[in-house]
Amino acid sequence: MADIMTRSGERTTIGDSAVRELAREFEGQIAAPGEAGYDEGRLLWNGMFDPKPSLVARCASADDVARAITFAREHDLLVAVRGGGHSVAGYSACDDGIVIDLSLMQEVQVDVDARLARVQAGATWSVVDRATQPYGLAAPGGVVSTTGVAGLTLGGGYGWLRRKCGLSCDNLLSAEVVTVDGKRLTASASENADLFWGIRGGGGNFGIVTSFEFQLHPIGPQFMYAAVLYPLEHGVEVISAWRDFMAGAPDEITSDVTPWTVPDDPELPEEIHGRDIVMLEAAYAGPAEEGERALQPLRELAEPLFDMSGIMPYVEAQSSVDELLPAREKRYYWKSLNLHELNDAAIETIIAQCRKRPSKTTLVPVRYLGGAIARVGAEETAFGDRSAPILLSIDAAWSEPEESEANIAWAREFWHEMLRYSDGSAYLNFGGYAEDGDSLVEASLGRNYRRLTELKRTYDPENVLRLNHNIKPAT
Ligand SMILES: Cc1cc2nc3c(=O)[nH]c(=O)nc-3n(C[C@H](O)[C@H](O)[C@H](O)COP(=O)(O)OP(=O)(O)OC[C@H]3O[C@@H](n4cnc5c(N)ncnc54)[C@H](O)[C@@H]3O)c2cc1C
Repeated sequence: MADIMTRSGERTTIGDSAVRELAREFEGQIAAPGEAGYDEGRLLWNGMFDPKPSLVARCASADDVARAITFAREHDLLVAVRGGGHSVAGYSACDDGIVIDLSLMQEVQVDVDARLARVQAGATWSVVDRATQPYGLAAPGGVVSTTGVAGLTLGGGYGWLRRKCGLSCDNLLSAEVVTVDGKRLTASASENADLFWGIRGGGGNFGIVTSFEFQLHPIGPQFMYAAVLYPLEHGVEVISAWRDFMAGAPDEITSDVTPWTVPDDPELPEEIHGRDIVMLEAAYAGPAEEGERALQPLRELAEPLFDMSGIMPYVEAQSSVDELLPAREKRYYWKSLNLHELNDAAIETIIAQCRKRPSKTTLVPVRYLGGAIARVGAEETAFGDRSAPILLSIDAAWSEPEESEANIAWAREFWHEMLRYSDGSAYLNFGGYAEDGDSLVEASLGRNYRRLTELKRTYDPENVLRLNHNIKPAT
């Protein structure tokens, strides 16, 4: 007998025979608390959350996904869908409900001649990069290799190829989707085009994607990646010179600057451990030697404390900051804002707030956008307006539960202070813990919001898929 939560928040019980029947035809694994596979299917990257679902359905195929969502719907259960489990807001698992976990579905097929990859929805970016790089091809993903393809792509997807190749969702050619009524659909420009529009930025609101087909680009295996540590004392000078350089940079160059503190990492010189810095990172989406020349000015913005730049395998660049963001060891609260300008006063505020941050492990990545991202119209994909040149991300990270309140309060205060440089829109994958409710989702999706509520009414009128940056069905 499973004691389980319904969508309306009431408790119900499901008889063993119903669970056994689901398990009988299931190719993957159905796990209750304490059973094999339960933890693998429920644990999330963010140490803030320790969800205890009543059932975990570890799917091995699209048919399993259809079986699991049909079961959940028939029993009116609270449903979470888990891809790579990196939702900072903890959306991809829940207490007492059912988790539909895709992490067993990691297959990647590469069509070298057509330059495309079909990726099952439980894959992480490291799995994709490892499959495509032997052919010197890449799909634009994120900058941390452990992140899931699914949530990142459905929410947009910013990585090191973004200014040359666009967002991850811009490189989507089609997707296989299981809708809440258990139907399997293809979404592409020619089939279910409305759904295809919605899943490019509208998150997991409209169905459960079981595989993605991506356009690949000739990138790597060798790749120019710059990582330079500048002292925070020169932060204003470094960030303003970076901003001016990036305003005229070619699309091949994608770059971030990140105020931060050097950790006690044995790979970094001991004399800079604990120093407050601005970490400059840049990547070149083109021939590596050409990139070495093109990125040189970014390595000379001030006197560096340490420079780790160089030509390296693309897969190495793609995982170079993985260790900064360990799974479950820390607690995280991430909040973002699209900035329409980054004047010197805005930079000074960023530096001043960084000096005040309660935790030294907190990062504040400032990402330069534009290029191919901005050439896609605001209404062409659900993602919305792309005209902001800068994405500010406030990535609070700390260890102890009693530090949570101070860190979250600091991040929110900083976010409010930066609102004057923004139209209030954010990257919803860095959207806090949903405490801003519909207003942040609406501000971020802009003119597309209304159309998305109508699409939600078509594909998920009962809002079964609600643990996401939720779009409520139009009434
Ligand atoms: C360490 C780290 C680094 C990051 N780096 C980047 C970055 O470089 N660029 C960037 O753009 N973002 C980045 N992000 C944010 C990232 O895009 C989101 O956290 C994203 O949601 C992660 O996807 P996931 O599949 O791992 O997440 P999950 O936690 O599995 O899912 C996230 C959301 O998507 C839904 N979902 C998952 N799979 C499916 C599916 N198949 N069908 C329908 N809905 C689904 C879930 O229900 C949930 O609402 C990073 C996050 C972390 C934690």
